Amino acid sequence: MSVAKNLEKLRGRIERACRRGNRSKDEITVVAVTKHASIERTKEVLDEGILHLGENRDQELLRKYEVFGQRPKWHFIGTLQRRKVKNIIDVVDYIHSLDRMSLAEEIDKRAKGVVRCFVQVNVSGEESKHGVKPEETISFIQALEPFSNVQVVGLMTMAPNTKDEGVIRHCFRTLKHLQHQVQLLHLPYAPCDELSMGMSNDFEIAIEEGATMIRIGTALVGDNK
Ligand SMILES: *Cc1c(COP(=O)(O)O)cnc(C)c1O
Repeated sequence: MSVAKNLEKLRGRIERACRRGNRSKDEITVVAVTKHASIERTKEVLDEGILHLGENRDQELLRKYEVFGQRPKWHFIGTLQRRKVKNIIDVVDYIHSLDRMSLAEEIDKRAKGVVRCFVQVNVSGEESKHGVKPEETISFIQALEPFSNVQVVGLMTMAPNTKDEGVIRHCFRTLKHLQHQVQLLHLPYAPCDELSMGMSNDFEIAIEEGATMIRIGTALVGDNK
């Protein structure tokens, strides 16, 4: 199916979720996850007016950056190895996967200016998932203070892969609570206004629970949905 058709469906679902959650659809930014999308398919996304792209590999991001340059905002959404930071740092607008001090240190060292970062939180506690523990999130963010190029714009999480809506909702709600706790600290480098949560399978719940950025791959660029 064309990106245009997918987007039309997606917009409808976003609007209904916003209504249920008492949100305005203007509060939701769609980050199109193009990690499996060709250049052509990615171009369709941009032509539909979606100007936020998410990639999880440095080489693929750079390949697309060569084609599209600064037309979109670039979001790095995957596990980020320290040694790869220098490859992407001048190109990305957001990093969604800040989850350890050594990475913050490297971002701070390599960046030429302030980098907008999400602290990734492993709310579900699954071993396979990256992220700081919920109970360590506050102290982690407090410890970022010396890194003047690191700005904490928000928190990010991935819900467990389950059909149990209650479990997913609990995960997103926990992230929202954590965001509130961070905001109460009034740290100038951590406004933490954003919540990056929700993917193709769970974005509606994420919106109901306060997401401001949803990361959508399959439902937008996949052709079997
Ligand atoms: C792949 C990926 C997504 C998008 O997943 P879909 O289920 O295809 O929407 C979102 N976030 C992260 C971190 C991803 O790796």
